[in-house]
Amino acid sequence: MARIAIGGFQHETNTFAPAPADYAAFEAGGGWPGVQYGAAIFAAVEGANIPAAGAIAALRASGHELVGTAWAAASPSAQVTADAFERIADGLTKNLQKAGPLDGVYLDLHGAMVAERFDDGEGEILRRVRAAVGPRVPIAASLDLHANVTRAMVAQADALVAYRTYPHVDMAETGARAARLLDQMLRSGGRVAGAFHTLDYLTGIPSQCSFIEPCKSLYAELTRLEERGVVLSFTPGFPMADFAECGMAVLGYGFHEKQVVAAVERLRGAVADAEKDFVLELHEAPEAVRRARRRGEPGAPVVLADTQDNPGAGGNGDTTGLLRALVEQKAQDAVFGMLIDAASASRAHEAGQGATLDFSLGGLSNVKGDAPFAAAFTVERLGDGRFTCTGPMFKGFRMTLGPMALLRSRAAPGVRVVLASRKCQAADQEMFRHLGVEPRKSRILALKSSVHFRADFEPMAKEVLVVKSPGPALADPAEFKWTKLRKGVRLRPLGPVQA
Ligand SMILES: [Zn+2]
Repeated sequence: MARIAIGGFQHETNTFAPAPADYAAFEAGGGWPGVQYGAAIFAAVEGANIPAAGAIAALRASGHELVGTAWAAASPSAQVTADAFERIADGLTKNLQKAGPLDGVYLDLHGAMVAERFDDGEGEILRRVRAAVGPRVPIAASLDLHANVTRAMVAQADALVAYRTYPHVDMAETGARAARLLDQMLRSGGRVAGAFHTLDYLTGIPSQCSFIEPCKSLYAELTRLEERGVVLSFTPGFPMADFAECGMAVLGYGFHEKQVVAAVERLRGAVADAEKDFVLELHEAPEAVRRARRRGEPGAPVVLADTQDNPGAGGNGDTTGLLRALVEQKAQDAVFGMLIDAASASRAHEAGQGATLDFSLGGLSNVKGDAPFAAAFTVERLGDGRFTCTGPMFKGFRMTLGPMALLRSRAAPGVRVVLASRKCQAADQEMFRHLGVEPRKSRILALKSSVHFRADFEPMAKEVLVVKSPGPALADPAEFKWTKLRKGVRLRPLGPVQA
């Protein structure tokens, strides 16, 4: 039996997004449990598809004694404020020091955090954790598939293990995989060898989905290469964080260095070869709605992914381009959600069910090319935003999205809008059922999500179209104005090179 510290600090930072992540954002959690310290971590994550939950269960099953330190996550957004970073990192390191002698550390990290004072957030977190526990205590961390893995992260941790699915249905499983590697190190008394390579092109997040090519084949190849006793990761990265080391990487760990190096090199080659297959097909909103109107039917809706305003990639979920196209074309049996607009949700609650009034929906973030959508809507249903998710990715997540409302357009009565007060991406059917909408019965589902929706919505969908309407989470990384990215990186597959 060993004494192992458990901690976590997750943030995915879109440095081009409109709002930073302050301490209140980590208290709210954005769908995740709010910030926790000490033993409170265990109850907060238990039973959910959260990396720490999987790690805790695996380590307990191996008979280890666990010590909670700090765990926090927030919705993706712009930089983590200096205040939030210091308070949470302090909680983590102080509780590590208070814990007394430790044999190991497990950390639940995202891997794409940019803090106001540290471009490489996780590199700094791992540096402080290493300084707190010393060089002899093994540190294993799980990472999101959208991690931008850096040299500092690799240098400070003994092992880094990333998700293999996007939608992330394997978050808890990945925590358990990192925990098993830690357990093996503790049992053997040895440390693992590692290998790490970055790639020299960026890919938009909609094309990183592991249900579709090329990631489907790349993750299958990763598993095949692992049969030689190595734990591998491929992180396509989060191409919205403007810092030097943003991008894709492959890495691996194992007790036999030669095998690790060979497997990681083969995986690197496979990802390099797949560059042309990452080229993404995007649709303008009017064209996508036209096609969805022709092809969507109850029982087999067409799903439109409003990817550029995905709250899971730093959007605030308040742009209206796709809604405008649905109303202009008078779409039938169409639902648009979730639009994050607390003021409009509160107005709907004040007016009450059945009331018809003029709304000015969304358009709150001053995103280029976007504006509020002013029109009359009828309040069809109200909700308190409290429900538990049931889909494959967010299963067990207890949502608290604030006042919610279902509105029906007066000019286009076939179009309904799901409003929520706190931001969260539309990746679980319960977000609609909470207001009495059964997604399957629609002809068109317009979702503020890039890929995570696919876990719960794609099985019923006739087809999925990725739509390019205004938002801060650009689907094509070449459209961002990069200022800190290292030279020589192609800004999209086969695309222009960063000078
Ligand atoms: Zn992710």
